[in-house]
Amino acid sequence: MDCIAAISTPLAAGGVSMIRISGEDALTVAKKVFLPKYPHTDISQMDGYTACYGDITDKSGKKLDDGVLLVFKAPHSYTGENTAEITCHGGVRISKLVLRSVLDAGARMATAGEFTRQALLSGKLSLTEAESVIDLINAGSDGLIACARAQADGSLYRRIEKICGDILSITSEITVWIDYPDESEDEDEINRESWLKRTEEVKRELDSLLATYDTGKVLSDGIAAAIVGKPNAGKSTLMNLLSGEEKSIVTDIEGTTRDIVEQTVNIGDIMLRLSDCAGIRETADAVENIGVSKMLERIESSQLIIAVFDGSRQLSDEDRRLISVIEGKTVLPVVNKSDLETAVDLSYIEERLGKAMIISAKQGIGTDALQTEIEQRCHLKRLSPDSGFLANERQRQCALGAASSVNNAYDALSRGMTADVAGLELELALSHLYELSGKSASEEVIDSIFSRFCVGK
Ligand code: GDP
Repeated sequence: MDCIAAISTPLAAGGVSMIRISGEDALTVAKKVFLPKYPHTDISQMDGYTACYGDITDKSGKKLDDGVLLVFKAPHSYTGENTAEITCHGGVRISKLVLRSVLDAGARMATAGEFTRQALLSGKLSLTEAESVIDLINAGSDGLIACARAQADGSLYRRIEKICGDILSITSEITVWIDYPDESEDEDEINRESWLKRTEEVKRELDSLLATYDTGKVLSDGIAAAIVGKPNAGKSTLMNLLSGEEKSIVTDIEGTTRDIVEQTVNIGDIMLRLSDCAGIRETADAVENIGVSKMLERIESSQLIIAVFDGSRQLSDEDRRLISVIEGKTVLPVVNKSDLETAVDLSYIEERLGKAMIISAKQGIGTDALQTEIEQRCHLKRLSPDSGFLANERQRQCALGAASSVNNAYDALSRGMTADVAGLELELALSHLYELSGKSASEEVIDSIFSRFCVGK
């Protein structure tokens, strides 16, 4: 009997726990551990999408818990196989006892991601859709959920299918040409021009797919951003405003932000991994000096620097020093305290760091445009999740391989080499794209993808 089982809910105390059993014999296993309250219910005869209430027992027949059994019939289930889901009371011990009983009844413990892997084998999901399942589980922002959802619905898969279709239409013509070369040179020329034009179009499609990677990566990993500025400029207040939490220490005494405070905040669709840094000033305080050198390190390693200036004061030497350190990097200058009278030399800042945002962190004024400003500084294009994008390095490598082969095919055609050279390169591009979508992915590739999954998914 090959039937897999696992606890699919988190292993922690909660309202309910669900033990999933999948395989041809899932209902036979369920029947051994689940006694319906209404004795006339025969589990093996239950229809898909129906449930019954009953007792869950161990192998000796002793009652472990009461719960609900939900039945799915192949192919209409997550895995595409017969599936039984037993929901019991949510406790770590009880869930493990129910799982033990299911294993005693003949199921084997599912490995990490095996239910989703089975869905892939049954053709319920493509590889890119399966990968998005893990992204959906890990998604930490609304934007990420929307992206993972679109991938799970096959947006990338469809985009790749379209590119494959375009390549196939060229390779099939080239194959015919190899078997039956054109008689006239004119016709040969017309064909060649058409292949060249269509190969160029495929090149563009792949380039635009590759361009989605950076934005996709930012969406999934977030942007490492440092908030810098002299003490009292309002860095902690801004950070607290963004995160909605009192994590940085806000005081009127200069130099209170001595260590780097880090937190993750969502600004619209973008996740910022923010660190609040000390200002750059010359100080005899050893602790604060450590803070300053940490800040300099942080500036170097950040993808974005949010530089906060106190708009109610003139620029100090420290401000100017900071500006000279961050000039030329990716900086969003923010002039704070717009609720007070302006004294800062705005043009000095903007000439060196670009257009500044004028805000009042204390009153929460002017921060609405933050997402757009960050997108502009980091050169992020807004992703349209429904059009499909590359979500991880594996996908990117496949797309890069395909793009390089298509480039070679294009060069071969444009340099007047025989069309079979281009045909071979295009075939190679197809194999990269099939690996991307999972049509021909190797076991190793599939293993490494599913190693990111948890048991029970
Ligand atoms: P940091 O040292 O840069 O982290 O500055 P803080 O966030 O600790 O703020 C220093 C002081 O400036 C605190 O008293 C804040 O309440 C005040 N402050 C911060 N933002 C504003 C603002 O927009 N307007 C005004 N009037 N005061 C602010």
